[in-house]
Amino acid sequence: MATQLIDLANLERAALETALAERGHKRFHARQIFQWLYKRGVTDISAMTDLSRALRATLSDQFTIITPQIVSRERSADGTEKFLLRLKDGLQLESVFIPDTPAMTFCISTQVGCAMACAFCLTGKMGLVRHLTAGEIAGQVRVLADALDMRDKKFNIVLMGMGEPLHNYDETMRALRILNDEYGLAMSARRMTLSTVGLLPALEKLAREPLMPNLAISLHAPTDRMRGELVPLNKKYGVADIIAACKRFPLAKRSRITFEYVLLAGVNDAPEDARLLAKLLSGVKSKVNLIPLNAAPGIPFERPSDHVIDQFARILSERGVVVSVRKSRGRDIRAACGQLIVEGQKLSTGQRLAVALR
Ligand code: SAH
Repeated sequence: MATQLIDLANLERAALETALAERGHKRFHARQIFQWLYKRGVTDISAMTDLSRALRATLSDQFTIITPQIVSRERSADGTEKFLLRLKDGLQLESVFIPDTPAMTFCISTQVGCAMACAFCLTGKMGLVRHLTAGEIAGQVRVLADALDMRDKKFNIVLMGMGEPLHNYDETMRALRILNDEYGLAMSARRMTLSTVGLLPALEKLAREPLMPNLAISLHAPTDRMRGELVPLNKKYGVADIIAACKRFPLAKRSRITFEYVLLAGVNDAPEDARLLAKLLSGVKSKVNLIPLNAAPGIPFERPSDHVIDQFARILSERGVVVSVRKSRGRDIRAACGQLIVEGQKLSTGQRLAVALR
């Protein structure tokens, strides 16, 4: 039986050094390989020309580089681009490029589908199909940077695509470390934002990580009664516990936790809800990002009027809360928040079983 090739793109540099050493190669080749793969976008080992021809041949027998493939690419009138990517096993996911927000931003997925089933989110309707590997998460960044010719430019990443990053904790953190590597893309943690619905044990673990991305919490409601209707996970980890964890969260100087709040007409958009939210967040170094609902067929909610949105924002800001309203980007190509869904994902029996067992 052919031995399984090791995917170089799924390894942190230290792990690659070990893998090289175990096969009798010099550890420092890991730096060269990282530079080729991340700084120059070379995904073919035989093209890594500062490695000897003999070494390239041996490495090609031991390693491979797995890169998600672009199936289609759609550009919105506002410049947002949605990429449909195919993974090695044929499953597909979506990643989004959002220009000038004010920085260039890549919105990256951490799972195919999502298990969290938030009431207003289309991805949640898919259920969890599978977790992504670190290589597949970081791979989306490689692919978008290449396709957009942005390898040498500064950009941010937000883990706000498909999936709940803290539900796929280890792979997500490994991906961030790969992206942070000085011989790779060398992205600073300040350019990374992890958005979570509030898986508390994982959030506590995140608080102890050496590499600390910016944190965004999908709150969406100021009370358990209201949040429980929107975010099923709230029945396990309630509002008070999440806020307490946020208060303990070690923040860099001048940095704040973002609280995302999807505004749903007649559900969580009353002036009283804004007042409760301001009260809840007093004492938390926070900012609120209001996200007017991106409506979609199958989503049983509506977007509030601009007047209601403005009023909600004004109540918060009068109470000293830093607030912004998220501009909806790429709605015409269904690339906006909560609109990422890959229709007709066909699962093989093996995949179905693997998902069921998780
Ligand atoms: N699972 C993570 C990250 C993915 S979603 C999380 O929940 O934070 C990124 C943001 O888009 C979340 O705040 C999510 O609640 C929001 N969102 C989901 N569906 C939406 C919709 N239909 N309209 C607007 N925002 C939505």
